[in-house]
Amino acid sequence: MLEKIEKLSKVLNESYSEKSLGETLRAFFTENFDISAFSIELFDTQKSEDEKITTSKYPLYKHKKLIANLCFSEISAELEKFLNIGAAFISLKLQNIILNEKMQKNINFHETMKNIAKIIETQYELNYIIPIIGEMIDKFFEDYLIYVFLKNENTGVNVLSWPMACNDKNILEKITDITDKTYSEDKKTLFIPLSSEGKEVGILVAKSMDEQITEKNEDYLAQISSQMATTINRANVYAEILKHATLDALTGFYNRRQLEERIKQEVSNAKRQNAPLCGIMTDIDFFKNVNDTYGHAVGDLVLKTIAKIIRSQLREYDIAGRYGGEEFSILLPFTKIQEAQMVAERLRKTIESKVIDISKANVESEVKSIHVTLSLGIYEIKPTDNDEDLLIKADKALYEAKNTGRNKVVVHNE
Ligand code: GH3
Ligand code: MG
Ligand code: MG
Repeated sequence: MLEKIEKLSKVLNESYSEKSLGETLRAFFTENFDISAFSIELFDTQKSEDEKITTSKYPLYKHKKLIANLCFSEISAELEKFLNIGAAFISLKLQNIILNEKMQKNINFHETMKNIAKIIETQYELNYIIPIIGEMIDKFFEDYLIYVFLKNENTGVNVLSWPMACNDKNILEKITDITDKTYSEDKKTLFIPLSSEGKEVGILVAKSMDEQITEKNEDYLAQISSQMATTINRANVYAEILKHATLDALTGFYNRRQLEERIKQEVSNAKRQNAPLCGIMTDIDFFKNVNDTYGHAVGDLVLKTIAKIIRSQLREYDIAGRYGGEEFSILLPFTKIQEAQMVAERLRKTIESKVIDISKANVESEVKSIHVTLSLGIYEIKPTDNDEDLLIKADKALYEAKNTGRNKVVVHNE
């Protein structure tokens, strides 16, 4: 008997999760006793009534509360004698494992919240922030599907923002009239309105894939929702301010709106003076990888570095703008397509050979420097084109550059 108890405490030492404990114990009991089946029945909410030992179940207690049953094909007198001593060891181990898993989950949650806070501090663009936060929440709530709906400020309608699609009719129907935290009837779906400073900015939906949503997870979701609501509200305010600004904060280039103004002026100049004008659209290759591998601070550094290189390669009267996240546009007045092609090619080569030191932006990374490449599309405007054609056609060429290998310059031809 003593020998078996010793064996038991040894195998218990080797388990670190509920699952591995179940497997280890199954191996232990089938090897050492004459049984054909074993499993652990865990109780989430602790039962307080006394459970009697039956012919096949042996209860495990924590302070007189039933926390689990050990289930056997049958319990012989010898096995029962063993369990009268051994069950206390198993119960203690199980309690430790449960506590550990809870603590780990808490640590992970705080890690997630910290990462969300980091993004929020430096980024204002919702199109960019929401997918990042969405991915983080998804990772944390492995068994839940998470949806984020954002209220369109003009129409007041909640529109899906994360993930790309939602085919769940029950959710889509309900989303139109949620004003308070609401559970679905089966308690597997939770709707939490996102509101900040008295303003409703959207709805977060969590749908559990198996069990009902637990109180603890509801608490986690509520904390995340409040963080998200603040972010969204702030981003909306920021977007309003940005509309009136002219320069992009990260790169110092013209922002999209100002760029469009400049295009109008340059196209009209070119037409009036019968002068050539070229547009270049650029897009960083595999930029998402940079963010995913080294973090967003490194991504931002890469954007700044490329912006700097672009500026350094241009003449004073050339115009550079941030078209979107990692897309820059360049206007080259008084420039024919052959010349623009040379500028673009020089730019491509300079960026390709640039060693970007990332050690300050990500102190933990073992890789200290990286390279990135740029794809470019060019177009020279024709008298019959309108303003938008300049960049639309340059963008078509860029698309071709992406599809035919990246890190290259492609000229648009009709
Ligand atoms: P491709 O070669 O096809 O262009 O691949 P890609 O990964 O660059 O393409 P995709 O358009 O999928 O990725 C663009 C990424 O740019 C997504 C987003 O993570 C990143 N991004 C956009 N704006 C910013 C920003 O302001 N800062 C940082 N760090 N990343 C940004
Ligand atoms: Mg892109
Ligand atoms: Mg890209």
